[in-house]
Amino acid sequence: MADIFDKCMAYTAAREVISAGIYPYFKPIQENYGSEVVADGKRLIMMASNNYLGLTVHPKVLEASKKAIDKYGSGCTGSRFLNGTLEIHEELEERLAKFTGHEAALVFSTGFQTNLGVISSIVGKRDAVIIDRADHASIVDGCRLSFGTVLKFKHNDMANLESVLETQNDFDGRLIVVDGVFSMEGDICPLPEIVEIAKRYNARVMVDDAHSIGVLGKRGAGTADHFDIEDGVDLVMGTFSKSFASLGGFIAGDDQVVHYIKHNARSMIFSASMPPSAVAAVIACLDVVESEPERREKLWQNAEHLRKGLQDLGFDTGPSQTPIIPVTIGENETTFRIWKALFDNGVFVNSAVSPAVPPGRSLLRTSVMAIHESSQIDKALEVFKKVGKQAGLI
Ligand code: PMP
Repeated sequence: MADIFDKCMAYTAAREVISAGIYPYFKPIQENYGSEVVADGKRLIMMASNNYLGLTVHPKVLEASKKAIDKYGSGCTGSRFLNGTLEIHEELEERLAKFTGHEAALVFSTGFQTNLGVISSIVGKRDAVIIDRADHASIVDGCRLSFGTVLKFKHNDMANLESVLETQNDFDGRLIVVDGVFSMEGDICPLPEIVEIAKRYNARVMVDDAHSIGVLGKRGAGTADHFDIEDGVDLVMGTFSKSFASLGGFIAGDDQVVHYIKHNARSMIFSASMPPSAVAAVIACLDVVESEPERREKLWQNAEHLRKGLQDLGFDTGPSQTPIIPVTIGENETTFRIWKALFDNGVFVNSAVSPAVPPGRSLLRTSVMAIHESSQIDKALEVFKKVGKQAGLI
């Protein structure tokens, strides 16, 4: 009989990249200045963060977080279901319901757990969940945990979605789940078409707004706000680990549906709740999102600056429409080598390889923040030019 650890002993892929000195993961950050960080003792321009609005260093957010520790302590030490609900969890849920235009909201301890709990509790044995092939891993895993049938459609391909709904109809209920903004390539889902198709086939729609909340829409309320179709979406999911500068996630929808999830989502019921400091930070972020729309405007200006700059240099930025701007490379090793050269020249970006992206489509994921100075983006573009030329990419 084999040892269950055989696969661990045979796993060499990451060690080979470490030995080659081009391993881009688990890089410890020693100091954080928002748009710049210190790693390996060196100051770098941070172009790998999901801190889109720059709120992890906003004085009001830090102050709220510190006050919550003084008032409630450092942790909740229990599930929302039992001893882990604070009045500020409920305050945050009311704020999120209003912000997203839904009757109710429920917070989870991470966005990942939100997708696990919501999808697995809603999609029963005789139901189907229909997902975009490029959906986030937490959606895929939520589907795996459900007892229903999982169907996939080609990325952002509405004819394919319609054909899946038309041909696969022998179910009790159907839920379509899409990313609002796709996390690796930065493109936006065609939500108005999805909502329209869903209505015709009597399916429900859930949107993962992890990268859209605080970023998209007139109010920064996400993808439905962007397309002005807040009534058409049944469930809005979001995380606090990006624009909301904290950790946690939420689902918003009709009161009775959220009530059902609250009593059935195992990833919430059997896990400790968000700590007070994290909850208070999100409430403060909501205040800032509502009172400082200029941050969102600056974010979009910065995104345009970087995207156009990279394109003008000759890089392939894929279908990016948002502050997530990929540079398509292809092979893993080349991606790691270019990542290392950028790092050595003072720019911190992310390397994305399979399964985060399809095999052979490895990319360097850059993302801008509202707090980047124009001069920092210019400096990063200079580095991209130098490294891209050396690598024969441009
Ligand atoms: N959905 C999407 C689209 C994401 O990008 C992420 C995080 N990368 C999550 C869900 C999970 O969120 P969290 O980090 O809060 O667990």
